[in-house]
Amino acid sequence: MRIPSLPRPTFFVLFIAAICCPDVSAQYDGATEVPQRFREGFRSITEKDSESLLTVLASSDFSGRGTGQEGFMKAAQWFSTQLADRGFQPAGDDGSWFQMLPFNVTQIDGEFTKLNIGKTTILPGNDFGVENYFGTFEGKLPVTFARVTKKRPEFEDGAFAGRLLVVQSANRIAANDVLIVKGRPACIIVVERDSRVRSQSVSQLTRTPSAVPLAKLGITIANKLAAGCEISADFFAEKNPENNQLMTSSSELDVHLKVEHESIDVPNVVGWYPGSDESLRDEHVCIGAHLDHLGIQQGSVYPGADDNGSGSTSILQIAGAIHTNSEKPKRSVLLMAFCAEERGLLGSKHYAANPLRPLKDMVCMLNIDMIGRNEESDKESASENENTIHLVGSRKISNQLHELTLAANQHVNFVFEYDQEGVYNRSDHASFAKKGVPITFLFGGFTPHYHKPTDTLAGINFSKIANCARLDYLTLMMAAEHGHFEKNPEENPKENPKEDTKKSQ
Ligand SMILES: [Zn+2]
Repeated sequence: MRIPSLPRPTFFVLFIAAICCPDVSAQYDGATEVPQRFREGFRSITEKDSESLLTVLASSDFSGRGTGQEGFMKAAQWFSTQLADRGFQPAGDDGSWFQMLPFNVTQIDGEFTKLNIGKTTILPGNDFGVENYFGTFEGKLPVTFARVTKKRPEFEDGAFAGRLLVVQSANRIAANDVLIVKGRPACIIVVERDSRVRSQSVSQLTRTPSAVPLAKLGITIANKLAAGCEISADFFAEKNPENNQLMTSSSELDVHLKVEHESIDVPNVVGWYPGSDESLRDEHVCIGAHLDHLGIQQGSVYPGADDNGSGSTSILQIAGAIHTNSEKPKRSVLLMAFCAEERGLLGSKHYAANPLRPLKDMVCMLNIDMIGRNEESDKESASENENTIHLVGSRKISNQLHELTLAANQHVNFVFEYDQEGVYNRSDHASFAKKGVPITFLFGGFTPHYHKPTDTLAGINFSKIANCARLDYLTLMMAAEHGHFEKNPEENPKENPKEDTKKSQ
């Protein structure tokens, strides 16, 4: 009897299995089998779900999920129903899904608002926007131009009275700034280095709005203004000023400023999955991602598919995996979708300052932000980064959490990068790290689509999103078994490595 070659029916069965179950071994090459007790949940995470969830998050229904905009409120509502479907319980204010933060939304009136100098008119747009002010102001004012170092210039009380002060400062100008309080200008325009000046401003209600009309200008247009007033076409520079400079002009600027105001509450979405062990369930592991992005700016939608539709997708997949797995985590899971990350980590800062469960019971906080694209820069092409991810901050507070993440990664096999791209303080984990909670931050790296309207579904790596969910599902489940991590004696100097090397240790 001869040994047969693979008979046809077997080929057929393999073929059917391959098309029915494309996700069964979707981890990267070299990944090892997942421990039995986590396997069911792990296998429930699929690329297909990454795609369908992100398609909703990046859709026009949510219009880029801008804090203070309708799209974010809809997204938060939708997110909470998704958590409920995955067996989570509401853990926000008064038994709701939401921890509300008070915000001020100010919106420039584009019809009314303009600056006229001679024949030139500046309309609100990318270079002319609004800061922390609301109200209406009209007047023809002589102008003082100022470049200010950290050390304030000498000037007399009321030096700017009745004038418009156009100022670039080494420190951001606050409403109670000495220039305003002592100089008493009639109106102030702050010159911004960032060319993306907003027509809408969202700030926390805890900030007192400026008593003086306050607008913002980009550097290029501010220099046009200075030239028009016969000062100089390069008075304002990218570099911080080394000396204080005050230049008064006799030219008058015709200022029309109208800013509308609304007080609103914006939520963090907060879910809780109770631990299976009654004696341990007060302790909790935390997973989070920011749900907000830039929303609609000057009429353009910023869908934020990667930033941070991708992380929001991942944490929902993790929620689903926890619920699917028969063996439940002994300690509880706190899951949060933050608002206002793009406004300065405001949602996570608010939670860390007003925790709904004691922070001392938080074992660790895992943050996921921008993991949907292959990193791409002048130095590295996207194709080199199919299976890479930045593991940021995992050694800062507890090496034990770092080691546990490496152990979890054996079953996914990402190639970790440890160059931090300057992001350690730039996403929501930082709010918890400042309180001493051990953190990890999964970050895909920057791409040409960062903070652009082109951050759409095109070019998204759904496999990377699913694998981040798999990695942090395992890390979270293992941390929920482990309990509190030993903290490093002091800040680990190794954590700021110059090493640009890729390692999959
Ligand atoms: Zn982000």
